[in-house]
Amino acid sequence: MSAEATSPGAHSRRRGLPRIDLRRLGRAALLGPASRDRLPDAMGHVADAHRAHHPDADLSVLRKAYVLAESSHRGQFRKSGEPYITHPLAVTLILAELGAETTTLTASLLHDTVEDTEVTLDQVRAEFGDEVCYLVDGVTKLEKVDYGAAAEPETFRKMLVATGNDVRVMSIKLADRLHNMRTLGVMRPEKQARIAKVTRDVLIPLAERLGVQALKTELEDLVFAILHPEEYAHTRALIAENATTGDALAAISEDVRRVLREAGIAAEVLVRPRHFVSVHRSRLKRGELRGTDFGRLLVLVGEDADCYAVLGELHTCFTPVISEFKDFIAAPKFNLYQSLHTAVAGPDGAVAEVLIRTHQMHKVAEAGVVALGNPYASVDGPGPADGTGPGAGAEIQDGERTDPTRPGWLSRLLEWQQAAPDPDTFWTTLRADLAQDREITVFRAEGGLLGLSAGATCVDAAYAQYGEAAHRCLGARVNGRLTPLSTVLSDGDTVQLLLAQDASSGPSPEWLDHARTAAARIAITGWLAAHPEAVGPPDATPRASHAPTADRRSTANAVVDLPGATVRLAGCCTPVPPDAVTGFPVRGGVVRVHRQECRAVDRMRALDREPVAVSWGDASECVVTLYVASFGRPRLLADLTETIATAGAAIVSATVEPPSEQRVRHTYTLELPDAAGLSALMRAMRDVPGVYDVSRAQHPATA
Ligand code: MN
Repeated sequence: MSAEATSPGAHSRRRGLPRIDLRRLGRAALLGPASRDRLPDAMGHVADAHRAHHPDADLSVLRKAYVLAESSHRGQFRKSGEPYITHPLAVTLILAELGAETTTLTASLLHDTVEDTEVTLDQVRAEFGDEVCYLVDGVTKLEKVDYGAAAEPETFRKMLVATGNDVRVMSIKLADRLHNMRTLGVMRPEKQARIAKVTRDVLIPLAERLGVQALKTELEDLVFAILHPEEYAHTRALIAENATTGDALAAISEDVRRVLREAGIAAEVLVRPRHFVSVHRSRLKRGELRGTDFGRLLVLVGEDADCYAVLGELHTCFTPVISEFKDFIAAPKFNLYQSLHTAVAGPDGAVAEVLIRTHQMHKVAEAGVVALGNPYASVDGPGPADGTGPGAGAEIQDGERTDPTRPGWLSRLLEWQQAAPDPDTFWTTLRADLAQDREITVFRAEGGLLGLSAGATCVDAAYAQYGEAAHRCLGARVNGRLTPLSTVLSDGDTVQLLLAQDASSGPSPEWLDHARTAAARIAITGWLAAHPEAVGPPDATPRASHAPTADRRSTANAVVDLPGATVRLAGCCTPVPPDAVTGFPVRGGVVRVHRQECRAVDRMRALDREPVAVSWGDASECVVTLYVASFGRPRLLADLTETIATAGAAIVSATVEPPSEQRVRHTYTLELPDAAGLSALMRAMRDVPGVYDVSRAQHPATA
C-alpha cells in the first residue's frame, strides 16, 4: 500500500498535529549543513514550533546539534530513499510541536548518532553536556532493547530502567516510533505487522500513561490501518460519507458559541473530529452512528472557574445527559489529564459530547509529560540550560504529580520493578496493569487523591497509599462506612484505611483474591513468600496478627462437624456468637468459619465447595475488635473505658489515634464474658457523648 494514500494522516492533520512534508525536509537536508549565521531550512520548522511554545528559547544549541547530526548521518539513507537526517528532524519536529523543552529537542536531533554513526557518547557529553548525553544514551539503550527481542519480560524491565530515570527518554522514543510508524509503508507486510503489534502492546499504553494523547491517537490509527485493514477501510468510508452529509456538530457548536457569548464568557468552541479508532469503537458500541458521533465539541477557556461557568450555561440552555458528566478537574486522571466532560442534546435530540478545559489543561491533555517542561528547572525560575520558563508541572501541586520525570504511575512501576521477585511476575502484573483501559480516582480521607485501576479494592488502595506499610491494614472505611477490604471502589469514593500499630502484622493469603493492581499483588506475594509460617501448616490458634481485619482470638470452642479439623474464624467477616455461621474446609485440614451472609460464602458455593456444618460451642466468651469514632473532648477516654467496664468486658488492647480535625479514632479489642452482650455494649458506647460511631472490625459483607 502507499503510505500517503491510506495513512490516517490527513485526518490527524485536522486534529491539530500537523504532519511534516518529509520530501521537503529531505530536499532541504540534501542542501547540506547550514551556514554559520542561519538555521538550515529544514530546521526552520523545528525552530518555529519551538519558539511558539518557548519564545525565549536559545536556538544555538539546536543549530549545533543539527550540524553534528547532519554531518554524521550524511551518506546514510532511510529505506524510503530519503537522507537519514530527515528522521531525527521529523522526530524533533513532533516533539517541538508538543512543546518539549530545548534539552529534549537537542537529544532528539542526536538520538540515532551514537547508535548509527561514528559519534561517541563522550563526544556528545563534551559538546552538549551531561543531560543531553544521558538522554541520548537512554534512547540508544531503548533502541537496543526494542529490537534486540530478548525474552519479553526482561525487555520490558530494561525499557523501564532506561526510561525510569528520566521520562524525557520515553518522550523521544514515542516520537521516534510515531515517525517510524508513519513511514512504515516501505517495509514488508510481515515486518509492518510485527512493529505495529509492539506499538499496540507497549508503546500505545505507555503513551496513554504518560498522557501524550496526540501521539497516542495517531499511533492507534496507524496500528489500526496495518492490523485491521478492512475495518479501517470501512471506518474511513463512514467518515468520508459523514463529511458529505454536512457537519451535525457545526450547527450545535454555533448554538454553543452564541449561548456563551450572550453569557459573557470568553471561550473558543471547536469541533474536534474523533480519530479513526474512536469512530470504530463508537460504532461497535452503538451500532448505527449519528452525525454527532463523529466528533466532539471542545470548549477552551482562560481560567479553571470559567470551565464551571461554561458547564452551567450549557446545562441551563441545552438538555444535559447527566450520566455523561465527569469532573476531571476536581479529580485529575492519573496521567495529569484535566477537563470537564458532559454531553448535551440539541433541539432535534442529537447528542453532542463536550469537553471543557483551560488552554493550559489542553496543552497537558495533548502533550502530557512532554509539555511538562524541563524537570530540572526550578518552580519559580527559568531552567539552567535552555531559558524556558517553568513547565506545567510547577502548577500541579499534588504530591507525586509534581515531579515530571517521575509521574506517579512511573514511580510506582519502578517500585514494583525493584520489589518483584522475578521478571515473570513483574511482566505478568505489569501487562495486566497496562491492559486496564480505565482508571478511577478516589479521595483519601486524609486529603489528596489516589489513582487506581478500575475494579480496584480497598486492598489495592491500601498498597497504593501506604506501600509496604499496608501489610498492617486492618480495615477500611469507604465514604465513612466500615467496609470489608474486598470492597470494590468506585470513581469518587472517599477511602480511609485503618492500620494496625503492630508492625509485625501481615497480609492474609485471601488478600490476593482482592488485589487487582500490580503493586498490591507484588507486595502481598513478596510478604507471603518471606513469611511461609503465615500461609503454611495450620496451628490451633488463628493467625491473629495476620488476620486481615483485626486482632482476634478464636474462642477455640466453635464446634465443627468434621473430626480432627482445626477451626479458624475468617478475617473477612469476623464472626462472633451468636452469628449464623458456615464453615468451609480449606488447605491442611483447616475449616474456615464465615458469617453466613459473608460474600466469601457465596463465592465458595459458586466454586462448588462443600460447606461443613459448624455451630458455636457452649462457652460464649468472645473477643472482638471495635472501632470507635468520636469527636475529641476532655474525659472521653475515661467515659468510654468506664462504659466498657460496666458491661463486664475486659480491654485486651486499645489504641487511640492522634486526633485529626477534632476527630478521634479508637480501636479496642475486648473480651466479653458473653457474646450476647455485644450489641448492648456497642449501644452503650455509642451513647457516650461525643461518640458518633461504634462498629465491629468489619460489617457483614451484605451490610
Ligand atoms: Mn530513531
